[in-house]
Amino acid sequence: MKIAVIGGGPGGYVAAIKASMMGADVTLIEKRKVGGTCLNVGCIPTKALLACSEMLMNVRESKSYGINIDGTIDANFESMMNRKDKIVDQLVKGIEFLFDKKGVKLVNGFGKLISKNEIEVSKEDGSKEVIKADKIILATGSVPIVPPMFPYDGEKVITSDEALNLKELPKSMLIVGGGVIGCEFGQFFRTLGTEVSIVEMNDQVLPFEDKDVAKQLQRSFKKDKIKLLTGKKIQKCNIEGEKIVANLDNGKSVEADIMLVSVGRKPYLENLGIEDLGIEVERGKIVVDEKMQTNVEGIFAIGDIVNSPFLAHVASKEGMVAVQNALGKDKKIDYTAIPRCVYTEPEVAGVGLTEKQLQEKGIQYKIGKFEFRGLGKAQAIGKFQGFIKILADNEDKVVGASIVGPHATDLLTELTLAVHLGLTVEQVGDVIHPHPTLSEGLMEALHDVHGECVHSV
Ligand code: FAD
Repeated sequence: MKIAVIGGGPGGYVAAIKASMMGADVTLIEKRKVGGTCLNVGCIPTKALLACSEMLMNVRESKSYGINIDGTIDANFESMMNRKDKIVDQLVKGIEFLFDKKGVKLVNGFGKLISKNEIEVSKEDGSKEVIKADKIILATGSVPIVPPMFPYDGEKVITSDEALNLKELPKSMLIVGGGVIGCEFGQFFRTLGTEVSIVEMNDQVLPFEDKDVAKQLQRSFKKDKIKLLTGKKIQKCNIEGEKIVANLDNGKSVEADIMLVSVGRKPYLENLGIEDLGIEVERGKIVVDEKMQTNVEGIFAIGDIVNSPFLAHVASKEGMVAVQNALGKDKKIDYTAIPRCVYTEPEVAGVGLTEKQLQEKGIQYKIGKFEFRGLGKAQAIGKFQGFIKILADNEDKVVGASIVGPHATDLLTELTLAVHLGLTVEQVGDVIHPHPTLSEGLMEALHDVHGECVHSV
């Protein structure tokens, strides 16, 4: 069976390797570098930079751990950017190596569907090649949205793509949008010394998460002197000399050296040839069924181009499901337990339903909550801001969870498993958790659902 994949992000490249491991003859077409948005201008470079700002925070706090560092702390922006580039390069090579070993053929160029079984690839040298396949997987990802009111020029008004390649640390930055990308960049630049303002039209950052969760992060932003302008909209925005000036709907204005527009992303479907084949698109996204198949038999779509959360792990999972169906298995995608992670300090993580969603759906629920400060391990490592919140339904099933605090993104997995398997509070809470660890907090929060938490009053 011949399978062709267009797009080498975490959706496409994982699908390609999986297909090859299942015995298919696989070709992947990528117009830039494998790894896609996630590896080149998304998940990995942002986390590499956030690791630098976290290290800087730790160094600044070293005195409270009994370590005196004399002299000035030289946080070198250029070196941080170089470190980030090195990590990305290494991982890109890693995927290419995997392709080699697993037998995936990589073709560099822009892919366009010309029939149900053919893709025309336009290469950099101007040549064209037609790839034939029995099944095709579309995984062309997304690009940043920049509303026309923002005078985007890639220098003063930028998106996350350019923020990851700045040559100098800006003195001031206005971030439009307090979602995950805005919050992560905001904290990175602020820790390095940039004056950061975040304008968010909702009344909290991370609008998807519950208020108590967002508040905890906002507290940390306030402490760091990030100027938070929630519940405000930008009405007009101009470049005035060296500054970018934004007028808000409360009559005030904010100015900065650089404006980072992080208001969301949109599927990238340009020149893909989907219209000619009659592939169904709704509100800019390709329509697929539970098997990730489009309305055209044998053509699948995955990742940021379909109607699911814009997340790398979702794209990869969809890729796995698509490939298995393409190769004759019967797999359905299940979105019940998608982990949501924000790599700020404190980290924020959630899975399943939020309180807000439970209320909207009219589902009765119980809450268990535990503050990190009650844990010996949290005190020992000196990171104890935040809490764990468990949401359980009437049958005592864990239907959602949120964590704000140290290592929240790693701690979430146990609760993701609980939501995924439909486990009850008692089943998960009964598990012996090692002492002293942060994971004990999960157990305490689970016990709290039934008012049985030993370490809280
Ligand atoms: P992409 O990763 O966008 O890959 C699509 C690929 O297709 C690209 O390489 C592109 O060059 C190629 N392509 C497009 N059209 C064609 C064509 N016609 N021919 C050939 N090639 C083509 N998600 C997380 O889960 N965790 C995070 O921490 C996280 N952080 C992020 C931080 C930032 C700043 C950004 C922007 C995103 C972040 N995301 C994160 C989101 C994540 O990057 C995306 O959800 C994920 O990359 C989507 O994967 P994909 O395979 O669908 O598409």
